[in-house]
Amino acid sequence: MTEPAIDCHTVQGVPVAELADRYGTPLYLYDGEVIRETYQQLRGLLDASVEIYYSLKANPNISICSLLHSLGAGAEVSSLAELVTARRAGVPAGDVIFLGPGKSTAELAACIEQGIGAIVCESLDEVVTVDAMAGTLRRATSEPVRVVLRVNPAFVTKGSRLAMGGKPRQFGIDQELVADAGPTLRALRQVRVIGLHAYMGTRILDAADIAHNTHSVLTAAADLAAALDLRLDLVDVGGGFGVPYFDNESSLDIAAVADGVNSAVARFRGTHPDTRIITELGRYLVGWAGTYVVRARYVKASRGEWFVVADGGTNHHMAAVGIGSFVKRNFPIRSLSRPAEPAARDYTVTGPLCTPNDVIGKKVPLPEVRPGDLIGVERSGAYGPSASPVLFLSHGHPAEVLVLDGEAHLVRRADTVEDLLRPQHLVVPAAPAPAAPAPGVPVPAGPAAP
Ligand SMILES: *Cc1c(COP(=O)(O)O)cnc(C)c1O
Repeated sequence: MTEPAIDCHTVQGVPVAELADRYGTPLYLYDGEVIRETYQQLRGLLDASVEIYYSLKANPNISICSLLHSLGAGAEVSSLAELVTARRAGVPAGDVIFLGPGKSTAELAACIEQGIGAIVCESLDEVVTVDAMAGTLRRATSEPVRVVLRVNPAFVTKGSRLAMGGKPRQFGIDQELVADAGPTLRALRQVRVIGLHAYMGTRILDAADIAHNTHSVLTAAADLAAALDLRLDLVDVGGGFGVPYFDNESSLDIAAVADGVNSAVARFRGTHPDTRIITELGRYLVGWAGTYVVRARYVKASRGEWFVVADGGTNHHMAAVGIGSFVKRNFPIRSLSRPAEPAARDYTVTGPLCTPNDVIGKKVPLPEVRPGDLIGVERSGAYGPSASPVLFLSHGHPAEVLVLDGEAHLVRRADTVEDLLRPQHLVVPAAPAPAAPAPGVPVPAGPAAP
């Protein structure tokens, strides 16, 4: 996505200040139009045969999922709650894939009974478990259960902030082992292995790396399918498209990404004209569209540094702390109350937690900040509250607002104190027994019995 021209104090013409007053802060604000543009731009550039699935992990809000479904995305889920979210958002079972290294029996049963598009199995034991379970469950269809094998690639990932290939991992089945899995797969009764999956990592910002990964995954899938004598109906090539957060990062050139992916797909099509190809994307589809809006509570100086103590912090936006970097780098942070004013000084923006690590921006140049001002952490639509310790200090989940066609919708209200306390059970210790009198101390006489 080219940098969207986000007018930082309004969203689709709706003033952020008005939304902050109406819904309270801290608040996650999502611009549905940015999600739409991001999706449609990518859809327009990618080969039409490449299916786009939305990874709910990045933002599991049901209305975000519904928006992406309305645009044509399938759903990639990794928990029972994400599966239910996708289904209630309207995604048909056939357009859902379920992935994750430690699926529970209840999760596998739901996948099998609902007949989802594919269960992405991360070990051969899991495939065998699914096969055994499928024989005992009532299923929506009599077709075999569709399984995709997740491969832990032998080749090394390029360009990812989280390398996935060539290492011992809990994810997937080592490429070397998949090639030898023929006997196990031939013994399956209820399961049909329809294809292969590999995920090469996240936060990739170089188009050439994505092209290389896509080509490598497609080639490995073709080789493995040949070795296994498998009809390759589907390959999930992962994704991992990044969003730049820090000032040493630049935007993904999405046209170049699409060119690279399309030419890898074209080469693969020479031998596999009918194989479905899926790319699963989380961050890229929603990251640009979100702003974390906090309100300054106190502004103070401490030993020569200026601090803005805001009403929300890393409890809702852990990523803003800086991802795996030794040097603290800041997300794009702006004053939403004085967007036109020049920077007055550097402020360190902190939240309400009682830990010195609760810093969402270190030495951020901002216009004069006064208590009550709104500050926005931009490009925060992915891995926000759901990837943060929202229960820390019992502040709870923040409100989430989605602006769609010029209208704001509260798509999640903030947790209340009651929401936080309801699941807890109060155990009151028995009242302590009255202390025995010390020896030699006369016991005072009680009132005389009448
Ligand atoms: C986390 C994850 C995704 C989504 O990653 P993004 O970088 O947010 O696009 C997709 N697939 C797998 C297997 C994942 O673990």
